[in-house]
Amino acid sequence: MTAATQKETRGFQTEVKQLLHLMIHSLYSNKEIFLRELVSNAADAADKLRFEALTRPELLEGGAPLRIRIEADPAARTLTIDDNGIGLSREEAIAHLGTIAKSGTAEFLKNLSGDQKKDANLIGQFGVGFYSAFIVADQVDVYSRRAGLPASEGVHWSSRGEGEFEIEGIDKPERGTRIVLHLKEGEEGFADGWKLRGLVKKYSDHIGLPIELQKEQHGEDKPEAPEWEAVNKANALWTRPKTEITDEEYKEFYKHISHDFSDPLAWSHNKVEGKLEYTSLLYTPGRAPFDLYQRDAAKGLKLYVQRVFIMDQAEQFLPLYLRFIKGVVDSNDLPLNVSREILQSGPVIDSMKSALTKRSLDMLEKLAKDRPEDYAGFWKNFGQVLKEGPAEDFGNREKIAGLLRFASTHDASGEQGVALADYVGRMVEGQDKIYYLTGESHLQVKDSPHLEVFRKKGIEVLLMTDRIDEWLMSYLHEFDGKSFVDVARGDLDLGTLDTEEEKKAQEETAKAKEALAIRIKTALGEDVAEVRVSHRLTDSPAILAIGEQDLGLQMRQILEASGQKVPESKPVFEFNPDHPLIEKLDAEPDLDRFDDLARVLFDQAALAAGDGLKDPAAYVRRLNKLLLELSA
Ligand code: ADP
Ligand code: MG
Repeated sequence: MTAATQKETRGFQTEVKQLLHLMIHSLYSNKEIFLRELVSNAADAADKLRFEALTRPELLEGGAPLRIRIEADPAARTLTIDDNGIGLSREEAIAHLGTIAKSGTAEFLKNLSGDQKKDANLIGQFGVGFYSAFIVADQVDVYSRRAGLPASEGVHWSSRGEGEFEIEGIDKPERGTRIVLHLKEGEEGFADGWKLRGLVKKYSDHIGLPIELQKEQHGEDKPEAPEWEAVNKANALWTRPKTEITDEEYKEFYKHISHDFSDPLAWSHNKVEGKLEYTSLLYTPGRAPFDLYQRDAAKGLKLYVQRVFIMDQAEQFLPLYLRFIKGVVDSNDLPLNVSREILQSGPVIDSMKSALTKRSLDMLEKLAKDRPEDYAGFWKNFGQVLKEGPAEDFGNREKIAGLLRFASTHDASGEQGVALADYVGRMVEGQDKIYYLTGESHLQVKDSPHLEVFRKKGIEVLLMTDRIDEWLMSYLHEFDGKSFVDVARGDLDLGTLDTEEEKKAQEETAKAKEALAIRIKTALGEDVAEVRVSHRLTDSPAILAIGEQDLGLQMRQILEASGQKVPESKPVFEFNPDHPLIEKLDAEPDLDRFDDLARVLFDQAALAAGDGLKDPAAYVRRLNKLLLELSA
């Protein structure tokens, strides 16, 4: 026995076993998708062959046209999908049909709940792929030979989808892969010619090479050799005119290239002619892939050059903050032998990248405008990623800012979030700034004392509670000509929103309370940068403001978490002179009691800002002391 013919049994990787089990038990209501998956793989195999043949034309072995054949045998209850693409070597069959290479698979599987409905939903994010054959088959045989290998180095892979698979060497004169599904009892419907025709039309019409079925043959004059006919259009979808492509075709094509199971939210199909010539078809996914935040997650577009597939995940055509966009770009200008290195930069790439970025942003703008509810769904999934935009893509800052959504004091439902344009549209008379507040959680910011004066004047404030919001705002300086103002920062100047009388009154109080400010500063010492009268407060006694140039709480926490040294910064203590507690403080002759009360007010202001206390025990001690005096 030679090595090539040796037969061996191997166990599936644990993850594969789990996936198989799950698929068989949770996708039963959507069985037919297995055909789409297998055809999609066959089409990929043809793409790969064409690509490798660019440098090794002998791989085409004479050059019979590439095609996919689907053959049904109702009597034997088998369904065969045959391609003459790149094929699999023995090692490849073991690696690709026995393991799942995707990073994060184990984690993904841990998230499964056992609730079949939920899991069916999750598995869609993962992409079902080859193993979906076992939804309808209780045995799958794969016969394959890799292009370029001799006929004697074919491989036969076989499994019942339970825990293991068998692999042996075979002779296979024709290059490519032939997958035979032994249909389960009850699934013989999938061996019906009409049904298959319908499924190919439904799921695979967009595939760029012919998918052939046997011609229906009737009566006595049945010819010996089967006759084949293509049932799909067999033109690469993006090369066809937009007007001739149905929504269903766009959606199925998305599933083919993205390995996502669910429909895309939106797409943008464009042909560019002129100095550069290329076609792009970009998609906004309907949901986030399970590995969106993993560093090595799949990103980038599928690159074709003159209709020849070149590579998956060409990352150079879109900025990182648009890494969730899927799609195809087909260039007439790049050389066929383009490599990842060549793609790094250069005028052609740069100009395509900037155009494709704009197309993507336009697609999102249109979605937001025409289908705000769907956009809200998009925002939930990908908003965090888009927020990286202003830092990465200076030139498109304004455009990206228009796509951002925030919670706000004027948006009770909080469902869709507030767009900056909405905010600007309802600014009050005399307002020329966009006000915002950042914090830990919605609960914490929504009742922040910083909002008191805004509430009194009816001015809207955006409430930002994503971890990266403060960082984001350090890159966004204005929108629609209006600058952003963090209401917790600096000496809040409401500009013309305060009347002349109000301003005068503020100055007078500040002067009148100067002595008190100095006493408090003495009590709080080095813990504060400054003490001053506040005009932000109506109900609270005191508040802490962040220095104009200092890092806010979120940024400090991010830096601390990443082990970096956080520059020291001290808050400004602002007090509300009209508050009874401050009046009491002002009237307090006893130095110790003055100190205690001032400290308690300082700690309370820190608590309200979401900051922890340096010495919580001291706070409790002082507060209890004051409470006891109160009841004495
Ligand atoms: P994916 O298509 O997302 O990579 P699949 O589970 O569908 O995942 O397929 C796993 C791998 O098996 C493919 O990446 C490919 O390497 C290999 N494969 C599957 N079908 C074929 C085929 N018809 N020809 C060649 N290789 C194939
Ligand atoms: Mg696949």
